[in-house]
Amino acid sequence: MSESYVIIGDGIAGSSAAETIREEAPDADVSVITDEGEALYNRILIKEFAKGKLPEAPISIHEEDWYAERDIDLELNTFVTNVDPDAHEVHTHDSGTFEYDKLLVATGGTPTQLPVDNSDAEGVHHFWTFQDARKIQEHADETDTGVVVGAGLLGIDLAAICAAQEVDAKYIMRGNRWWRYGLSLDGAEIIHDALEEKGVEPVLESGVEEFQTDDDGHVVSTVDANGEEYESDFVGVAIGLNFNTEYLQGTGIEEDSGIVVDEYMQTNVEDIYAAGDITRYYDTILDEYAQNGSWGSAKEQGQIAAKNMVADDEEEAFRWVSSYSITHFDFPFLSFGFPTLGDDECERKYSDTEWRRLAFKDGKLVGGVLIGDIAPQGRYKDLIRQEAEVADQKEILLEKDFDPEELAIPQEQ
Ligand SMILES: Cc1cc2nc3c(=O)[nH]c(=O)nc-3n(C[C@H](O)[C@H](O)[C@H](O)COP(=O)(O)OP(=O)(O)OC[C@H]3O[C@@H](n4cnc5c(N)ncnc54)[C@H](O)[C@@H]3O)c2cc1C
Repeated sequence: MSESYVIIGDGIAGSSAAETIREEAPDADVSVITDEGEALYNRILIKEFAKGKLPEAPISIHEEDWYAERDIDLELNTFVTNVDPDAHEVHTHDSGTFEYDKLLVATGGTPTQLPVDNSDAEGVHHFWTFQDARKIQEHADETDTGVVVGAGLLGIDLAAICAAQEVDAKYIMRGNRWWRYGLSLDGAEIIHDALEEKGVEPVLESGVEEFQTDDDGHVVSTVDANGEEYESDFVGVAIGLNFNTEYLQGTGIEEDSGIVVDEYMQTNVEDIYAAGDITRYYDTILDEYAQNGSWGSAKEQGQIAAKNMVADDEEEAFRWVSSYSITHFDFPFLSFGFPTLGDDECERKYSDTEWRRLAFKDGKLVGGVLIGDIAPQGRYKDLIRQEAEVADQKEILLEKDFDPEELAIPQEQ
């Protein structure tokens, strides 16, 4: 009898796993279950759609035919309610039960709501799906005033959408700068200036106290932590993700702010694997458990999980240096590796729009942020992969045209 593989989630992790399983096991039964109403699309590009800059078509990655052609059973609009690891069964809200030999959990996360009054009012948007992007695009197009909350990589997308849609927006942040865990004041100032140039005003050392609504329950203004009230017909909130794990209750799968997997994407429960944003995985470069919310990492994890599921063995380990870029401004921005980790760092400002920061742990480069010139990214990522001890050579590392040949790298014995 052929093996049966069930994948929960048709994001990039689940979909790339299905493709890999089909390649590795041509006769296997493969099912992909998703609660969304459309097949895989490019989540990275939905912000460009919401800006009004891209039509729908190029955002889609797979049509439903793509699955049919590969004999992959795609179940749209199907919500998984629970998993029974003893019976090897997946239960859904109204599409019955799926039996599996091997199961992949790739259900990512759902945006967190602000714990304040009226955070679910009409006009308060969270941003994760194409459906969210359609609503955001439509609303931002017809409104004049907005507030964005959440000083991270998704919050800035919402700010850029307001800018592109000519919404007069305030960008409320808790600390004294955007992405305070990854940037110093020098780096953040470049971003603040760029936001202001686009008509988005950063409001620092603030936070949301409450949203006020009209009689129809539509948001009209935002009151911040300092008592200021900002007119805001449109609100975008991006303060983090809650991982979609409720349906795994009672399975015994280990969770630690995400599903814990080893470097082979295997959970502690037999025949169940996990991949993508949802995992806390063993990072073979850092030699510790880590988390990563990025497209490239989710895709690679899906493929690695699939290979190990088919091989029924520890066939291939996940070893990856991720990167995440932002393209909203005239200058490029790229974060790579783990710029918010580490015990040591260095940074340099090269011009009004060029800045670099590198983070080190135990003497090794583990991540960084490049603003303005992202050309050296490949050289830095190589050093991370090599696990080279280079923290004592910061002058060379921060040279504008950094040349790895100039580094003295201790050779392993
Ligand atoms: C607006 C936006 C911009 C981004 N920009 C970038 C970027 O520039 N660069 C970058 O690297 N990354 C970016 N990301 C992050 C990147 O998109 C994610 O890291 C990646 O898509 C995660 O893929 P995944 O497959 O793990 O999870 P997801 O894509 O979240 O897929 C999980 C799927 O599982 C489904 N699901 C959940 N629970 C259930 C259930 N119980 N039953 C059935 N189905 C379920 C969900 O609906 C979803 O379709 C961005 C994300 C967003 C939202």
